[in-house]
Amino acid sequence: MINSEVVKSLCLELRLGSYISENYREIDAETHEEFLISLLTGFHDNRRSERRQRNLRQAGFEVMKFIGDFDFSTVTLPVDLNREQLSGLEFIERKQNLILYGPPGTGKTHLATALGVLACQNDYKVLFFKVSRLVNLLCEAKENGTILKFWNKLNKADLLILDEWGYIPFERLGTQLLFEAVSECYEKRSVILTSNLPFDEWNTIFYDQKLTAAMLDRIVHHGKLIMHNGPSYRLQNSLMQ
Ligand code: ADP
Ligand code: MG
Repeated sequence: MINSEVVKSLCLELRLGSYISENYREIDAETHEEFLISLLTGFHDNRRSERRQRNLRQAGFEVMKFIGDFDFSTVTLPVDLNREQLSGLEFIERKQNLILYGPPGTGKTHLATALGVLACQNDYKVLFFKVSRLVNLLCEAKENGTILKFWNKLNKADLLILDEWGYIPFERLGTQLLFEAVSECYEKRSVILTSNLPFDEWNTIFYDQKLTAAMLDRIVHHGKLIMHNGPSYRLQNSLMQ
């Protein structure tokens, strides 16, 4: 076997992927150490970027949105959470929740997604769901006996994003399973929730008042409220056309 094939086959056997065998010959170095450092640095960066791409794919975002494109002038942040702290993702480390509240078209999904994307790029594992879709998935999984698989996936996440909380009402099973999902996150991982429903109307969408109160309690306990109070971007843009 020629040398390059030996390298390739050893790398495969050691589960190192193809980066090293494809790149080692391009490295310009004067000493063994210099060569090795350069190779390992490239390998390390390549692994990190693959991991971040995988995080983004597995998060399940519906669209890609970025924090740099978000106009913060239309939101009111809580006094103890400024823009830098938000973008620094301290809330994930502290396992705090964010509630993004406001009327349609004011950037709730944009901000929630952008924070999720940022989290993926900083090596956190994220799961994004529209609440109605999550409830359907959970009910189906319960029926098929595959729900354990979902709980395992949730347990590996650092951040759960629940978009459009309170847009449609749920039956008893849906409410119970959503409650379980929220309970699974309590003090273990952050939840970002977007909603246009005031807290005192939460009980209108869930089957069970006690569960609703318990859910509200778990989300709000370590939660911070971000108010989206600008005019609807969608409406503004369509009026412009
Ligand atoms: P919501 O989820 O509150 O209904 P979206 O996040 O879907 O609103 O926003 C609607 C559209 O307007 C999206 O394309 C979004 O990128 C844009 N948008 C809304 N608010 C902002 C903002 N503050 N800065 C930048 N883009 C925004
Ligand atoms: Mg939305």
